[in-house]
Amino acid sequence: MRTVYLDHSATTPVHPRVLEAMLPYYQGEYGNASSLHRLGRNARLAIDQAREKVAGALNARPDDIYFTSGGTEGDNLAIKGTAYALRDRGDHIITSRIEHEAVLNTCRYLEKDGFKVSYLPVDRYGMVPEDALEQAITDRTILISIMHANNEVGTIQSIARMGALARERGIAFHTDAVQSVGKIAVDVEDLQVDLLAISGHKFYGPKGVGALYIRRGKKIHPLVHGGHHENWKRAGTENVPGIVGLAAALEICMSEMEETAGREARLRDALQRGIQEKIEAVRINGHPTQRLPGSLSVCFEALEGEALILGLDLKGIAASTGSACSSGSLEPSHVLKAMDIPVEIAHGSARFTLGRDNTQQEIDFVLEVLPDVVERLRSMSPVGLSKGDGKT
Ligand code: PLP
Repeated sequence: MRTVYLDHSATTPVHPRVLEAMLPYYQGEYGNASSLHRLGRNARLAIDQAREKVAGALNARPDDIYFTSGGTEGDNLAIKGTAYALRDRGDHIITSRIEHEAVLNTCRYLEKDGFKVSYLPVDRYGMVPEDALEQAITDRTILISIMHANNEVGTIQSIARMGALARERGIAFHTDAVQSVGKIAVDVEDLQVDLLAISGHKFYGPKGVGALYIRRGKKIHPLVHGGHHENWKRAGTENVPGIVGLAAALEICMSEMEETAGREARLRDALQRGIQEKIEAVRINGHPTQRLPGSLSVCFEALEGEALILGLDLKGIAASTGSACSSGSLEPSHVLKAMDIPVEIAHGSARFTLGRDNTQQEIDFVLEVLPDVVERLRSMSPVGLSKGDGKT
């Protein structure tokens, strides 16, 4: 059975050219970048070149790029690293309610360690209101962490204006750009950020490798202690093939960004239109225009998102849901909850995230299959549809 993969926000396949770039560093060029001999120097050169490519893509200085094991580590290093480095200046951190767990749980950890955290609300589109940010700032605030684009609904925040506000007040600003890098323009100068985390596997690179941009002069406490790697900010022998792969993937995405984004947005819009036309009682989540090109989050009334995802999986369609099944109770997504979507509707959420290789035929296939799957599930559901067509 063919697979129609519509879960690119979860992860992406490694691009063939990325794999090709990585392979030599598993075989002939397997040196440790700290070794003095030729193999070591070649590995060092590969890392240096990768650092330059990543810096170029983000409009950063190569010395300000630190390779990590992925987005989660980047967010941890940015947030804990700043909190511990600036503890003598203040103890207050501001973030939003719709962040990824890599940010939320890091902040919760810091709360247990004596820090105070403000979790900003969002509007119905998932946008952080700028006045709420301004009002939350106190003279104890040392860090603001607001994600660039949301992994579930795709909403893109006005980071540049929030970054400017933080800079005006002398507060460090971090953005989790794991979902935006490679898909839309990300420029650390335009965005006015001090820290920015990215992850290779979200843009056709390998899993387990990422990078954190740290603006020169910003204090960061390392979390992993050991050798001198990554300028003493992140110890551990470098993942040379992974770093090479991340840089190669970013280079490909940057060079094809406009074309890919246009194609993904057209297909996404066709999928959205088709769903709205063919299925009653659906709600589209996220910002109508300030949204990642391939992101489509939909709530289907009167069904469970998990059942829908499993039903689609049986037909060869890979999508995901915002809900997490934890300890036997189905908790609706914290993102949809923060956007004030009623719990019973949030339960029926599904996320379709398109990528560079999706085709119109695949979207047509989904639109052929999805209405039947929804109808079957609704016919078994004890919950009826609400009055009105529910389309928003
Ligand atoms: N931040 C966001 C917004 C994400 O979507 C993800 C991955 O799902 C992460 C952080 C974590 O990245 P990684 O999987 O590289 O640890």
